[in-house]
Amino acid sequence: MKNISVIGAGTMGNGIAHVFAQNGFKVTLIDVSTSALQNGIETIERNLDRQVSKEKITETIKSNTLANIQTATLISEGIKRADLVVEAATETEQIKMEIFEQMDKHAPNTAILATNTSSISITKIAAGTNRADKVIGMHFMNPVPIMQLVEVIRGYATSDETTTTIMSLSKELGKSPVEVNDYPGFVANRILMPMINEAIITLHEGVAGIEEIDTVMKLGMAHPMGPLQLADFIGLDVCLSIMNVLYKGFGNSKYAACPLLVNMVTAGALGVKSGEGFYQYKKGTKELIVSSRFKK
Ligand code: NAD
Repeated sequence: MKNISVIGAGTMGNGIAHVFAQNGFKVTLIDVSTSALQNGIETIERNLDRQVSKEKITETIKSNTLANIQTATLISEGIKRADLVVEAATETEQIKMEIFEQMDKHAPNTAILATNTSSISITKIAAGTNRADKVIGMHFMNPVPIMQLVEVIRGYATSDETTTTIMSLSKELGKSPVEVNDYPGFVANRILMPMINEAIITLHEGVAGIEEIDTVMKLGMAHPMGPLQLADFIGLDVCLSIMNVLYKGFGNSKYAACPLLVNMVTAGALGVKSGEGFYQYKKGTKELIVSSRFKK
């Protein structure tokens, strides 16, 4: 593996490109939006600067990393020589199916096609290609340069060879990969999202307030962030869509999204990205303030 193409330059895509490039791979970062590409490269530079100021890397590593990254707006151009393509575009099944059709058409026949999806079936994505044995989930966590885990998801038809290659490649990136099978939510979100949903139900039923619920989980369970703050960070729309995938995939009412979560998403209270969720987010302040809607 030498040439890696990353499709999508958003939150996850620029982090994935950063980590591959820092480990000596030649990366092509692809996005339909030129401003997303520009923002992606700027984010990588900012994150590298932070690593330099913390003396985690040298200026030379920073400049080598940036030199390893080129950009493209056309998938057909950007993946021609790829050994691996990692798709990290918007979490919409139709978008991913269309991108994978292009990946299958334009990447070399030997290339592995990976997706960073949080919740869409790897088996379904693979079934739309002519190389289902070479399609796999490579689920990085946010922020990618910092988080250790890569959840490596085997679709129904993923080969042992593809899985072994991606497991050892993830280790080459300094990450700790864990192999799991393709069922709704995989492992990470199957466990995390019902916990977040239960925290919202606990709030909705008036058992405790936002700060109380988060404090119980932080101090009692040693979680670095409470579940309601984490939901804001992930995005309440993302949480809702993953709960819906679990509910549909298992047909079990225990995965039904809390009506409060549904209401908040409908009203546009999405968490950090919209400026308000369970907490309020103002630019330039890191202080956590409970949203006025939930004030006692
Ligand atoms: P994002 O919205 O920040 O970025 C998505 C990018 O994809 C955008 O820049 C968009 O322009 C681009 N895009 C859309 N359609 C495209 C196309 N046809 N061709 C090329 N680029 C295209 O999204 P994100 O948060 O980085 O999420 C990306 C993927 O990673 C999703 O599948 C998501 O579920 C998954 N994921 C996200 C997180 C997270 O915390 N954000 C964590 C783990 C996994």
